[in-house]
This record gives sequence, C-alpha cells and structure tokens, in this order.
Amino acid sequence: MKRREELTFLERIYVVEVLKGVWLTFGRLLRNFIRHLKNSIWVRGDNQKLKGAATIQYPEQMRAYPERYRARHRLTLKENGDVKCTACFLCATACPARCIYIEPAEHSDSSIEKFPHRYEIDTLLCIYCGYCVEACPVDAIRMDTGLHPEVYPPDPRLYIEDKETLMERSRILEDIGKEGLLELHRAKIRSLEQGSKPLSDAVRKIVR
Ligand code: SF4
Ligand code: SF4
Repeated sequence: MKRREELTFLERIYVVEVLKGVWLTFGRLLRNFIRHLKNSIWVRGDNQKLKGAATIQYPEQMRAYPERYRARHRLTLKENGDVKCTACFLCATACPARCIYIEPAEHSDSSIEKFPHRYEIDTLLCIYCGYCVEACPVDAIRMDTGLHPEVYPPDPRLYIEDKETLMERSRILEDIGKEGLLELHRAKIRSLEQGSKPLSDAVRKIVR
C-alpha cells in the first residue's frame, strides 16, 4: 500500500498547484489552437500537418477501420446484373430491429422462383448487427461498403434505403472500390457542412 505523503507548505496553500493546473490546461489549449490555425492557413500536405489534439478532424481525417467493419448494406448482383436475392425472408426474420421490408414477386423466368419486387431497409432503425448478412443463404446482402451509417441526409426519407440504392451501391463499389466510396461520402459531408454547395449528382446517387 502506498503511504500517504505529507504535503509541502506550497501544496497546502493550493495557490501554486491551482496555477500549475491552469497553466497546463491553457498551455495545451493555446498550443492546439495555434496548430489548428497553422494547419488550416499554411500547411497543405496531410503528412506535414501537426496534430492539433487527440480529436480526429472528421471527415478530412478518418481512423482506419477493421476489415470486418459493418458498414452500410448493399445487395449483391448476379453476373447479368440482376439482384441475387431470392426474397426468402430469412434476413427479415433474423433482423432484431424489424427494419427490413420485402415484397416478393414471381419472376418472368420460370427457373427463378421469386425475387424481391421491393426490398427496403430502414437505416434509422437498423442497429448494424449484421444478422441479416449472417442469415442470408445466397450471399445476397453484405455490409462491406466501408460507408458510415447515414447521419443527416438532405431528406429524412432517405434513411430508408430501397432495392435500387442497395443494388447501385454494389455496382459503384465494383467500379471505384471502397476508397472511392468513402471519398464520395467525405465530399457529401463537406458539402452539407458548408451548407452553400449543392450535392453533385454523383455524390447524391451513391451516398445520398
Ligand atoms: S444489420 Fe441487423 S438491424 Fe440492420 S438490417 Fe441487418 S439484421 Fe437488421
Ligand atoms: S437478402 Fe438473402 S436472406 Fe434476405 S431475402 Fe434475400 S436471399 Fe433471403
């Protein structure tokens, strides 16, 4: 057990200790303020920037996510571009948040039993548990896009992601990869935060 040490006279009157604490706090505050100011005015390259504080300057800086990060969903596609999903309802049954809505329909091709005429995920209810991905017997739904959940869409109805959006995400992911998708996501956050800039069509189409 550590013995309690006697306080010195200066510690007992507190004033010096309080001043030391104030100096430490305001010193850090000033240092971080100057670094942030310098980074935003003079320094261009990311690698030359001095770290201002422990906080991450999102969306310019992002943590590296693990490979198994459960990101926004996508519906995978067959080679001919059709949706792989067979509207079996296993994902909707496994979903603890009850946020998957499927409307099945008969396919014109008699070799295909049924397909989802409508497939929607209410991402405002979704808890990103990944049970839907685990439950799917045909690998028709994945959460490997690297995209964050929607935070503030321009239209709240966009929290509900429909079949076309989920399929389009698979196509874009194939074209530009995870990094490309994330870059579009960052562009969207930046333009929303700046308020004035309208979203470009490309950004709206992919990350909404
Ligand atoms: S991640 Fe979980 S909560 Fe979200 S849709 Fe899938 S099963 Fe439902
Ligand atoms: S995504 Fe998979 S589990 Fe869900 S309905 Fe389609 S095939 Fe079934």
